[in-house]
Amino acid sequence: MHLTQLLGQTKAVNLLRRALTGGRLGHAYLFTGPDGVGKATAARAMAASLLCREDAESAPCGRCPGCLKFVSGNHPDFLSVRPDGAVIKIDQVRELKKALVFPPLEAPLRVTLLEEVHTMRREAANSLLKILEEPPPDNLLLLTTDEAEPLLPTILSRCQVIPFSPLPLAATIEILQRMHPGLDEENARTLAALAGGSPGRTKGINHAELLDLHRDILEGLLAKGAGEADQVETALRLAARVSKSDGLETLLDLLRLFCKDVMATCCRYPGADASQQPAQILARARERWNLPELSDNIQAIDAALQALARNCNRQLVCEVLFLRLLAGAAQQQAT
Ligand SMILES: [Zn+2]
Repeated sequence: MHLTQLLGQTKAVNLLRRALTGGRLGHAYLFTGPDGVGKATAARAMAASLLCREDAESAPCGRCPGCLKFVSGNHPDFLSVRPDGAVIKIDQVRELKKALVFPPLEAPLRVTLLEEVHTMRREAANSLLKILEEPPPDNLLLLTTDEAEPLLPTILSRCQVIPFSPLPLAATIEILQRMHPGLDEENARTLAALAGGSPGRTKGINHAELLDLHRDILEGLLAKGAGEADQVETALRLAARVSKSDGLETLLDLLRLFCKDVMATCCRYPGADASQQPAQILARARERWNLPELSDNIQAIDAALQALARNCNRQLVCEVLFLRLLAGAAQQQAT
């Protein structure tokens, strides 16, 4: 991937391209920003450019031996360090330090990507700091960090910081469609709501199942003319189905976002036009719930999420939740 293909990060891309083509490459760059907005993708694109044998303007060419080895994951001058479990361990940093002593094997420069450096404990961070303080020649370090997490200020001061921001909606949708081939725009918009500007967050999600269940829940909650007995049946049916999903918490997050979006359009809130939800379903939800009821819905969903976090019985939590959500809808219908 070429750096210029990175969507929605114009500022970061411009800074990096200037570094690549201006002949003033630093020793270390720290990519900061929320999780899932393209920091590691940008770092890999930068590595691809540097390991390509063509000149900086046309790199990466995708054809030279450097490019082919990088793409197949076999370039000897590209090293990658990721958290082993939850953290980057001191041993990983020590191993890296040993490897960096030797000159690069094929390219003029060795590129090392260290992802999620905020996960390092103090000991590992101090070891990394030593590398940054005396960078071995012909090495470039690319670090990524979640901006929400604190880093040693001494590490920050040794790196050129490249800020990444949450992505705009259009870019999020386009990236989601690239990530999940076959995803149509309506579903991409729904997933974009969940991504909140960080498409990478949806990586581990079984999106087909999630979207299917989400649609089923909305249909159940918004069905017209259902009597009380039907509603109890709907609540129990939804609870039985949804509580079996591994993505239950994500599903409830999605439902919460949906209610917030409906609220925003009720209030003619300025951001409402950018709503990720299809207009038709928003209109049906507005007919069904008024503002206080939407607020009650959000509280009910929060209560369910808290109960799940306490390991309460999943099916029971879902039954209580859907009965509450349907009761709100029933009151509105009666008036
Ligand atoms: Zn190349």
